[in-house]
Amino acid sequence: MRDLCDGRGRTVRYLRLSVTDRCNLRCMYCRSNVREHSIPHQEILRYEEMARMVGVAASLGIEKVRLTGGELFVRRGCDTFLSMLRARYPEIDLRITTNGTLLEPHISLLRRVNVHVVNLSLDSFDRGTFAAVTGRDMLPDVLRALEALLSARLRVKINVVAMRGVNDGQMDDFVHAALTMPLDLRFIEFMPMSSGTLWNTENFWPAGEIKKEAERRVRLLPEADSPASAGPARMYRIVGGKGRMGFITPVTEPFCLACNRLRMTSDGALRTCLFADREYRLRGLLRHPEITDARIAQIIRRVCANKPVGADILYARPLNGAVAAKQMSGIGG
Ligand code: SAM
Repeated sequence: MRDLCDGRGRTVRYLRLSVTDRCNLRCMYCRSNVREHSIPHQEILRYEEMARMVGVAASLGIEKVRLTGGELFVRRGCDTFLSMLRARYPEIDLRITTNGTLLEPHISLLRRVNVHVVNLSLDSFDRGTFAAVTGRDMLPDVLRALEALLSARLRVKINVVAMRGVNDGQMDDFVHAALTMPLDLRFIEFMPMSSGTLWNTENFWPAGEIKKEAERRVRLLPEADSPASAGPARMYRIVGGKGRMGFITPVTEPFCLACNRLRMTSDGALRTCLFADREYRLRGLLRHPEITDARIAQIIRRVCANKPVGADILYARPLNGAVAAKQMSGIGG
């Protein structure tokens, strides 16, 4: 098997698969003020078609698959889908990203199908701020799920989208969480995705400043992750704490030259770069019984050869402008 390489020597090993564009939250950083309609049901890939995509990806050397959305647990049958993926592809490093609001009843299944790391989006430990950011008063549900994940001994990575004027006054809470719980708490720089979102230079909170704010409270020691679990986050051990803190810097220090990702939207469009609008519509091929997996693999290989460098797109945008026309909820993060 030949690796899936692009023209810049990057090897793709990671697929982010959006299972649905629907979500029960309305996060202010994820959606724009332009109303986007949900994708009609018949255009959403069936689980069988998504599983086929994962199989083709695995045949191309993809080792890690993350299910995302929208919100994975909003889609009916997602447990069966997780079990199906695990049964067919026992070697795949299967992960999920969730807002945690509907997660609790699914935790025992996650253990059974060996999803051993869960990324939980949680932008504030303050109930009012959580409701303001997400549009729903559901912080208690997320905190219950977090406790249950830790009790089930699953690894938890909390993703905090950092926004000035929104959650920048809550460093005490974030530090407390990372000090007292065995988890990774990672700040993600707010990305200017899709015009009409809240993003502008005033509410952008750069990782360098977030780190300084944290270091006023605790000592952070850089820690390298094992190559298998190393992602774009720079991780730090907190002296005297149970957890770690990390920073993901897509805006101030883009990591595009190390990008190993492909994304597939829930309606079967392949994206080779988060920031690029170019999509390759594979649904027709995945749905077609006479198109072989080998043919689809060949197309993916060709598409990957031209994987863009997202930072070029980011830096070329006008001041306070956005990249990518599609909202994050439709891409999957
Ligand atoms: N519903 C799931 C969740 O809430 O995690 C998965 C979908 S969400 C689009 C995936 C990730 O994208 C989340 O961690 C979210 O915080 C992140 N995200 C969305 N919009 C973002 C933005 N403008 N900048 C940075 N991260 C963003």
